[in-house]
Amino acid sequence: MNNWTTIRISAFTLILLLCFTGCSDANKKQTEPPKPYIILKLDDLKFEDGLVHPGWDQVVSYLNEKAVIGTIGLIGESLEEGDSTYFDWIKARDQEGYEIWHHGYCHCKRMRDEKEVREYKGEPFGAQQTSLLRTHHLAKEKLGITLRSFGAPYNSTDECTPPALEKISDIKVWMYKETTAPTDKFELNRIKAVNIEYPVHVPDFEQFKAGYDAFRTEPVLVIQGHPRSWVEDLNRWEEFKKIIDFLLQKQVTFITPYEYYLMEMGKTSIKNVP
Ligand SMILES: [Zn+2]
Repeated sequence: MNNWTTIRISAFTLILLLCFTGCSDANKKQTEPPKPYIILKLDDLKFEDGLVHPGWDQVVSYLNEKAVIGTIGLIGESLEEGDSTYFDWIKARDQEGYEIWHHGYCHCKRMRDEKEVREYKGEPFGAQQTSLLRTHHLAKEKLGITLRSFGAPYNSTDECTPPALEKISDIKVWMYKETTAPTDKFELNRIKAVNIEYPVHVPDFEQFKAGYDAFRTEPVLVIQGHPRSWVEDLNRWEEFKKIIDFLLQKQVTFITPYEYYLMEMGKTSIKNVP
């Protein structure tokens, strides 16, 4: 065999090898199931009996142990009552990468003319704007945190909510927008079939898994839960842990609403945003 023949055979082998590797990579990519981004929308942080509810501590410890990032829906009124330990707890979570988001001021509802009125459903524009601004300013003043995302108490809003929110340009994201009135905020929608809790307050792994399998081609899944409701019942806690472990097995990426927004906007760093 002369040198030229050897070179030609070697080149041919190399091409075959490259093609084989390339093709198998392409096949692998095609057969890999799609993976959505996951946002853990955890609701209802408040100051209770002089402390953070043990449910929050337990959830945060577990998520930190697993290196999973979550988000915390802050009820603004709690910042009027809370002490420095409470504020430091929230600031520590912020430092760890959790997103602290706007979950209303009072999280309250009342009856007016025999009709139930909620904080952002049925209240006039002015009242909604005042409530939104109070939480936003309290977070800046007491925590030094600029809230970037909003999710309404009970996910209840009406046509007055978008113009009231528009007044807070710092807020970029609206999770679980319910009203059909248009908004200037980036929307992260609710898919009711895929969630942590079925019904609300009760984590259920099997139902979550069915929802996940049905909607895993979505770019992002925002799943809601209430950590305060999970610690009294061991079964609820175990079901939550199963959901997190399943998602870790699937190697999904956990992300916060604001980080997702920044990614979508093509921005890589919070520092780049005005
Ligand atoms: Zn809530």
